[in-house]
Amino acid sequence: MYISTRGNYEKVTASQAVKLGMVPTGGLFVPETIPEINMDELYKIEGDLYQEVAKRILKLYLDDYTQEEIDDCVKNAYNAANFDHRSMAPVVKLKEGTYILELWHGPTAAFKDMALQIMPYFLSKAIGKVNSEKEVVILVATSGDTGKAALEGFKNVPGIKIIVFFPHNGVSKVQELQMTTTDGNNTYVVAVKGNFDDCQSAVKEIFADGKFKKILAEQGYELSSANSINWGRLLPQIIYYFTAYLELVKNGEVVPGEKINFVVPTGNFGNILAGWYALKMGLPVHRLICASNENKVLTDFFNTGVYDSNREFIQTNSPSMDILISSNLERFLFEITGHHWKKINQWMGDLKTTGKFIVDQETKDAIDRILTGGFATEEETLATIKKVFENEGYTLDTHTAVAVKVHDQYVQNTGDKTKTVIDSTASPFKFNSSVLEAIEGKEAVQGKDEFAVVEELSKLSGMPIHRALKDLDKKPVLHKTVCAKDEIKKAVEDILGIK
Ligand SMILES: *Cc1c(COP(=O)(O)O)cnc(C)c1O
Repeated sequence: MYISTRGNYEKVTASQAVKLGMVPTGGLFVPETIPEINMDELYKIEGDLYQEVAKRILKLYLDDYTQEEIDDCVKNAYNAANFDHRSMAPVVKLKEGTYILELWHGPTAAFKDMALQIMPYFLSKAIGKVNSEKEVVILVATSGDTGKAALEGFKNVPGIKIIVFFPHNGVSKVQELQMTTTDGNNTYVVAVKGNFDDCQSAVKEIFADGKFKKILAEQGYELSSANSINWGRLLPQIIYYFTAYLELVKNGEVVPGEKINFVVPTGNFGNILAGWYALKMGLPVHRLICASNENKVLTDFFNTGVYDSNREFIQTNSPSMDILISSNLERFLFEITGHHWKKINQWMGDLKTTGKFIVDQETKDAIDRILTGGFATEEETLATIKKVFENEGYTLDTHTAVAVKVHDQYVQNTGDKTKTVIDSTASPFKFNSSVLEAIEGKEAVQGKDEFAVVEELSKLSGMPIHRALKDLDKKPVLHKTVCAKDEIKKAVEDILGIK
């Protein structure tokens, strides 16, 4: 069963948690207990590792789904039509003891596909179980990548409408075009004159607005979420922490039981939290390293115990991590305090009213035992892309480069030589201008349009252009709505035809 991080709601089943998206009275659903998994059983898996591990892990959490239903979800999501690599998420050796986990082989070239290719199937099956007549409206706030991944996952799914809000001028050109050229009879994309935090806060407010939800219900609609506030989005991300480890064991890089580190380029804290759940389930993990860009609210929090979002929001060259209010930290704090929902209410209340909260020493110590934070500047990010390209012949995207840099700093500061997997969250093609600039200098990108840059990057890196970017410049822009940041609710009303 799933419980609220704020102690303010009844227990619900997995399918209800997936369908509700977040706790209707505020707060996030987490599993009441974390299931353990037998590593020895996983070492024995032969054949399609990703799919087999997925089936087992998902079943442990989605216990009101049958194994057949889960197998069906896995088969529909993790296959050769959706992912251009046999392993779904291959592990590449960067240098001795350091590995890159490529999470961007799905249809939209970012790691969001790992979850959003399967989540629509969870939701469709949940709708069947919960026995609802209503049409489900998925509200999505995106810093750039979730939007397209969710649109692809949910487009033309019967009984579902999807509305995506993204920061106007706050995403890369590729990200914007990917979203605004989406077809499908149930997709809506709105640019918001504000930043990601504005989008996310407005969406969360709508979820907590009982009056509005009642009006929606009268019109035959109910809300759900495809953001990582939805457990159904977080859950599939646990899978690749296991498969990465198992691949390293299979390749003789680590011995069974040997603890490794993971470095995760972080924004909303969903990906790294999935790594923490993997650890709690029994994956041999030494430390989790949380990598941020100059919006380093998390780095400061892990260093000081003070979470302070009262600071300038900086647009960086790793835009998918430009976030000051990191939603899934709430889940992590709830877990790390032993489900102390009173503390969570206090902290989240403080965050809402003052933009800031301070955790007690006991909580800070509990976090310190497993997690380290670090950040990289934009210049460091570009320098890292260049260095890795020249030394290792590997092309990083900006987000992954942040993680590589933070890992270098971590090793310097601590001397920790533990073998390390770095989550690679996007294909370099998705942030092509920054990547090409990093390797060849500003002149190489000046005056060139995005698609000339993509071509050049392909030649330089020797990588085929990711299929998500092919012909993007030739597709018609179908979504042109722009709204003010305080008009998000109105935009929902307009789209659904509610007066
Ligand atoms: C979403 C995203 C992130 C941040 O992931 P969280 O789960 O929000 O921490 C990092 N990199 C890329 C490329 C992303 O799309």
